[in-house]
Amino acid sequence: MKYISTRGQAPSTDFAGACLAGLAPDGGLYVPESFPQIDPPAKGETYHEVAARILSAFTGDAIPLDDLKPLCARAYGSFAHQCVAPLTQWRQDAWLMELHHGPTLAFKDIAMQIIAQIYDYLLDKSGQRMMIVCATSGDTGGAAAAAFAGAKNTDLVILHPHGRISPVQRMFMTTTGASNIVNLALDGDFDDCQAIVKDMFGDREFVNRVNLSGVNSINWARVAAQSVYYATVQAALGGALRFVVPSGNMGDALAGYVAARCGLLSGGFEAVCAVNANDALARLFNTGVMSRASAVATPSPAMDISVPSNFERLLFEMTGRDADAVRTTYDTYKQAGEAPLPEEAVSRLKCSGLSAASVSNDETMGEMARFEQETGWQICPHTAVGTFHARRLPDADVKTVVLATAAAAKFPETVEEATGRKPVMPARAEALYQHDEVFERTEASIAAVRARIEQHVGRSR
Ligand SMILES: *Cc1c(COP(=O)(O)O)cnc(C)c1O
Repeated sequence: MKYISTRGQAPSTDFAGACLAGLAPDGGLYVPESFPQIDPPAKGETYHEVAARILSAFTGDAIPLDDLKPLCARAYGSFAHQCVAPLTQWRQDAWLMELHHGPTLAFKDIAMQIIAQIYDYLLDKSGQRMMIVCATSGDTGGAAAAAFAGAKNTDLVILHPHGRISPVQRMFMTTTGASNIVNLALDGDFDDCQAIVKDMFGDREFVNRVNLSGVNSINWARVAAQSVYYATVQAALGGALRFVVPSGNMGDALAGYVAARCGLLSGGFEAVCAVNANDALARLFNTGVMSRASAVATPSPAMDISVPSNFERLLFEMTGRDADAVRTTYDTYKQAGEAPLPEEAVSRLKCSGLSAASVSNDETMGEMARFEQETGWQICPHTAVGTFHARRLPDADVKTVVLATAAAAKFPETVEEATGRKPVMPARAEALYQHDEVFERTEASIAAVRARIEQHVGRSR
């Protein structure tokens, strides 16, 4: 299995190369040279067995199936629910797929737990040590910290926007006590954090000197790991499904598209990216123009993103894998702050099964209260963006599956404000309050972040 860059100017590489690099050296994102065709889950196959089998189609020779099996068993053994991604019905024709039973109560754990296992495996094999840098809008950082704390072969530097994430989100990354983790609270928003990471990868001398790697959703292994739960829900519910995916960087929704391309969704593919007031993705789908806007703070901070990085992978497919067209579009966007999509991409996008819609702050807060009145359950504000949009969809002969991307307990202040009741903290979150937080307030500049990384590398090697 070979991986190529969406911008067409990087050499192809194997799974190990694509996974450990994160971003391709030409600034593009890695995608598999072709989509493998994978058998759907068999009766009796457990989540971690399905995960190993699906991932092995993407790892190829880099990690054989027999080696992946114990890695997946370990990764998913840390979940509080043995089904990993269980379904609960909340309406006659609608289900929640609960993706928040991992160590940090958000769906990011599902990919990050296995990625940490994969990194250890690959780095053991090659005898390297790597510096992982990770920008977070709140949940990726915690999931990465939980997964990589104390890892043998990796250091982890996490950039989060200071004051723009919930205290529980922050504590998941700042209380590990692990000496291989550095937390930087940047004076900026998530887009600033993400841009600094992207720019650092553009400096090849620095990348090679510190052996830099990235585990943001630009990393193909995350997309592959997330395609697994689309396959298990299809096997569990059967028939035609319509997914509603609370979206930010669009990694989760793209994983659904990938599952469909790999033959894992027998009932066809339809997914709506539900975004909050940061509606860049909805505007992009509806107007065919990529345009820059600065992110505004909302009740669903993990989705406060104005530049959805995984759209690039979709655009690559929608242009018929025309890397020159993708590169030109992104170059224009970078220079002008706006770029129309190529015409053929716009028409293909309309038939892709994907679409996007925006939900306002008031609608999100109202939905959390309504959901609790109707079911007795509390949902997190990101999930509420999804269920609100699910109610708006026209009746159709399909089952609707909303991805529950985090637990209510991860956003206690917002949930209490919306419903008048504090969510119950799972025991694993209670423990957070007993540890000291360690993070460093840092200027939102590439120079400041680079200097801190160099200092850490100097100490750890
Ligand atoms: C990251 C995140 C999202 C957005 O997922 P993307 O893959 O970036 O689209 C939605 N909800 C929660 C709780 C998240 O942590």
